[in-house]
Amino acid sequence: MKHCRVCGIPADVEGVELDEEGVCRACRSQLPHLPDPGELRERVIEELESHDRVAVAVSGGLDSLAALVLAARHCREVTMVTVDTGAIHPEAWRRLHLARRRLDVEWRVVGDVDTFLELFERRLPRNQSPCGPCSKMIERRCERAARELGVDALVTGHELPHGTDPVVPKDPPVIRAMCGLPERERRELVREELGLSPRKLAGYTSNCVVLPFALKRFHEEHGYSFEAPRLAAMVRMGYLSKREMWERLEPPGEEELRGLLEECRGWIPRRLERLLRETLSSASGPESGE
Ligand SMILES: [Zn+2]
Repeated sequence: MKHCRVCGIPADVEGVELDEEGVCRACRSQLPHLPDPGELRERVIEELESHDRVAVAVSGGLDSLAALVLAARHCREVTMVTVDTGAIHPEAWRRLHLARRRLDVEWRVVGDVDTFLELFERRLPRNQSPCGPCSKMIERRCERAARELGVDALVTGHELPHGTDPVVPKDPPVIRAMCGLPERERRELVREELGLSPRKLAGYTSNCVVLPFALKRFHEEHGYSFEAPRLAAMVRMGYLSKREMWERLEPPGEEELRGLLEECRGWIPRRLERLLRETLSSASGPESGE
């Protein structure tokens, strides 16, 4: 299998073309303009310190917990905001409860689970990734909650896909707190301050139960992971190693998915449980053989 020499993205991912030096188009165009990670981190801290009251969007996954820790260190008043998509793993909920106790902050849970379930029910049977629209929906709900709370900024566990400024000019401004912070250091922050080590479920998630199933179905149809471009961008910016990315590009196995369903039984909505079970049985249908 051929990979981009720089970011390691496999050449069979749709839209990826390697030039004669084995470099993909995204690396070719972005490398000359990559921001310095050290400067990005300083900017994040400066921004956190200049906003007194913030809301932090937290899902119980690694990145948002790390963002929460940073906000708690640098802002005077922090409120956690969680959007309940129905798909949050029970372990992630437990981490949220622990984080809230440990940091002694306010917590608001918002969500219209059915809207999210409808999205999953539309996308999964068609082998489509629900992640794009789902993230947008979560983002809108967090922004609305931040306005209602009247905070000075919304802090998220995102990094920078493009550009050089960790602050997105919105009302209120959004601070992407993971800018410049490699995954290894995110883990350290969460372990140090919260005593937690979020377990990776599959792909790039430690909280969403739907993603592993979506990855499996998509991989069966297309032969690659829909997360590849995002993960390759993280390698390009130094957040992940190529090896860490390649591990995450492997689709989860059936056993793993079955185990995941078992862990969530009785916790996620029945309707979602049914959908995931159906997804699993159609994904493990007759194998076409090698
Ligand atoms: Zn590349």
